[in-house]
Amino acid sequence: MSEYIKSLLEEVVAKNPSEPEFHQAVEEVADTIGIVFDRHPEYRKAKVFERIIEPERVIMFRVPWVDDQGNIQVNRGFRIEMNSAIGPYKGGLRFHPSVNLGILKFLAFEQVFKNSLTTLPMGGGKGGSDFDPKGKSDNEVMRFCQAFMTELQRHIGPNTDVPAGDIGVGGREIGFLFGQYKKIRNEFTGVLTGKALNWGGSLIRPEATGYGAVYFAAEMLKTRGESLEGKTCLVSGSGNVAQYTIEKINDLGGKAVTLSDSTGYIYDPQGIDKEKLAFIMDLKNVRRGRVKEYAEKYSTATYTPVDSSLNHNPLWDHKADCAFPSATQNEINGKDAQNLMNNGIYVVSEGANMPTTIDGINIYLQEKILYGPGKAANAGGVAVSGLEMSQNSMRLPWSREEVDRRLQEIMKNIHTTCVVTAERFDHAGNYVVGANIGGFLKVADSMLDQGIV
Ligand code: NDP
Repeated sequence: MSEYIKSLLEEVVAKNPSEPEFHQAVEEVADTIGIVFDRHPEYRKAKVFERIIEPERVIMFRVPWVDDQGNIQVNRGFRIEMNSAIGPYKGGLRFHPSVNLGILKFLAFEQVFKNSLTTLPMGGGKGGSDFDPKGKSDNEVMRFCQAFMTELQRHIGPNTDVPAGDIGVGGREIGFLFGQYKKIRNEFTGVLTGKALNWGGSLIRPEATGYGAVYFAAEMLKTRGESLEGKTCLVSGSGNVAQYTIEKINDLGGKAVTLSDSTGYIYDPQGIDKEKLAFIMDLKNVRRGRVKEYAEKYSTATYTPVDSSLNHNPLWDHKADCAFPSATQNEINGKDAQNLMNNGIYVVSEGANMPTTIDGINIYLQEKILYGPGKAANAGGVAVSGLEMSQNSMRLPWSREEVDRRLQEIMKNIHTTCVVTAERFDHAGNYVVGANIGGFLKVADSMLDQGIV
């Protein structure tokens, strides 16, 4: 690592204390793009990276609301408008008690590179709240969403900033958020993506992140003359991304054997087939229950509760070929990554954002497995959000086949960008280098064109 990058990272830590996830995300990118600064001093001279790591705007606000018992609750809301060099800010909203400024800054930072890789004109942003939708009634979720949007609406718009879903924000929440935006602004516009089909949503948007992560894995496997047919896959999470990852694994002839939530995981060596997946979708999206119930219904499965005294996650300690982490950040540490290698896994396609720690990534790279980092592998979600924006602007919906065809093409293009860029910068086969540099160049060049702003 050059002195320049080292001092830059020291400054990031000093300037942004108590934001370890943001430090980690910046370090992971900085580690790989030093070579760009060596070859292109113009970026360094224009302080492009120093500008990219500083959000263009951070909005933080109070969200007061009243629960079903009549008690006043106060949450904190955020929107990080990170970079608008190539388009309006675009990125999801996360509702989870762990949400804080550092986590959203890491997500917004990642989003800038990811959106650039999609080839669509979208800048990077992210937002959310420390509100926990778990255990809340639909009315409480609605009142919270309305209070949240009452403030957020003054900062966003179809040509300014277009939020979407993320952890804890699915179709129900997007509906309440959109309704409040429309009421206050008196306009029906594509200000949010992930909308329902009846009011401007795109077919394939719910499926897009999971499908995209599997398409990306299929592209990586193709480079070795292989496919997903007959492959056993470990999947974490049981939300939006995990569900559609499993659906597409099944479509392509693979077998998913795990699923998790924040209380534990299930292992079903027989595979989570179509019928079992339908059970999970109902359990998680309608009844909002826990994955434990899967093992109660299907005797082929075992349930293991989370054990916080362990230094690893046993979900990653099963024999398989592929892993699709689809829950949350840092869910695979160095020990987990080593367990994956010991169990024969040689494909990791990240549906979640930054699910692997830097130690873990180094193990993948050392072992030269097919490793698709989140910014490339899970870009299908935001890509179809971009397609939803296009359909909203044209006021014309595309068919399921049309959107899926475009999604597959975009995932293929992202894969090619990663491969070609990694080769160009002397790291053939390294998708981390390919994704980071590939995402960076388009944003950096646009920033150079637009002057010091
Ligand atoms: P959901 O809220 O639909 O599902 C999240 C899943 O992960 C749930 O099963 C949840 O369990 C589990 N989970 C969340 N936090 C933790 C935690 N701290 N420890 C263990 N398990 C946890 O979210 P999504 O499926 O939309 O998002 C999953 C990941 O994919 C996130 O990293 C997100 O940023 C990323 N992503 C999502 C995109 C999208 O389009 N939705 C796009 C690109 C990336 P529980 O129910 O117990 O909370």
